[in-house]
Amino acid sequence: MPSSRWDTTGLATRAIHAGQDPDPRTGAVMTPIYQTSTFAQTAVGEHAGWDYARGGNPTRDALEEAIASLEVGPHGVAFSSGLAASDAVLRQLRPGDHVVMANDVYGGTYRQLAKVHAPWGLTFDPVNLGDLDAVAAAFRPQTRILWVESPTNPLLTVFDIAALAELAHERDISVVVDNTFATPVLQTPLSLGADVVVHSTTKYLGGHSDVVGGAVVTNDDDRAAAYRFHANAVGAVPGPWDCFLVLRGLKTLPVRMRAHMEGAARVVEAAQTLAGVREVLWPGLPGHPGHEITERQMCGPGGMVSLRLADGETARRACERFTVFTLAESLGGVESLVEHPAAMTHASTADSPIAVPGDLVRLSVGLEDPEDLAADLQQAVTGAR
Ligand SMILES: *Cc1c(COP(=O)(O)O)cnc(C)c1O
Repeated sequence: MPSSRWDTTGLATRAIHAGQDPDPRTGAVMTPIYQTSTFAQTAVGEHAGWDYARGGNPTRDALEEAIASLEVGPHGVAFSSGLAASDAVLRQLRPGDHVVMANDVYGGTYRQLAKVHAPWGLTFDPVNLGDLDAVAAAFRPQTRILWVESPTNPLLTVFDIAALAELAHERDISVVVDNTFATPVLQTPLSLGADVVVHSTTKYLGGHSDVVGGAVVTNDDDRAAAYRFHANAVGAVPGPWDCFLVLRGLKTLPVRMRAHMEGAARVVEAAQTLAGVREVLWPGLPGHPGHEITERQMCGPGGMVSLRLADGETARRACERFTVFTLAESLGGVESLVEHPAAMTHASTADSPIAVPGDLVRLSVGLEDPEDLAADLQQAVTGAR
């Protein structure tokens, strides 16, 4: 990626401008949606930089430059989903290679490793990444990747990315961080020592629950070329319209994250007063085990909140009683969502080493009035008892 005049500007400025200069031909302020599968050539093999749209498209280029700029990495590669992005990273490994990952990693990442990559010869171990001795003990001569997610989905555990990177790099192990929950507004893993960042842009980066997408960012030229080759070779690429939607979402990411956190703080405050709530999981709480790392590593605790209720049945009943929060998978959109991870997003991890507790309710706090969200939580939890 060429260095740009936006490199030295602040995050909110980059979210709006990096990769998104007005269209040089027409002056269009918004990035055009290049809805085309192919590009005319002036002579055989001579073209303006794009030949066939699986390999590249100017709308996708803009998105890649914008995401890379936010993550402060020189290379961004956009994918058709977050899991397509993870797949591109894991497919650089070879049979016999080993991955160490968080033991409460996103369920889809676990499923991809267990059901797609393991049958082709990768091995992996889920480990508590909060225990550096356990991580060191899990490393083998064949370990190539330490897969970190922080905060995790759905338990909101926070890990010390810089300490993990130091430990991994002593053994030449690459560090990949899934930054979907934090977003580059709250944390930039490359600046903490990570080698690769992956995103589900479906969530906060898109921010409006209207697109599925993913991205990989790295500061390593060879890795970036390999991911780009992979995206084109397997066709795991996003369409121009989807890229436009994520670009549009990115522009308000910093202001949305602030509002998500304001709402989350109010919801957490309400949850703490409810007799039906056994535990509130939010890295912004001083009692959260990762609170000290959060203060050091992040610019805020994020907009995701998980609650533990009396038992699985109560948790399911509560999920079905919300009227402002919508019962649905996914997160990071303007509307608040509630879900029951054990039966919904993380059903694929049932009976696995990373199964989530049945009494857990996960909230993605949206941008509605915080008082309405607090009242909805109160009636749902109280009514479910
Ligand atoms: C949703 C999610 C993914 C997968 O992204 P998709 O866009 O759904 O493929 C990966 N990691 C985390 C943390 C997620 O929340």
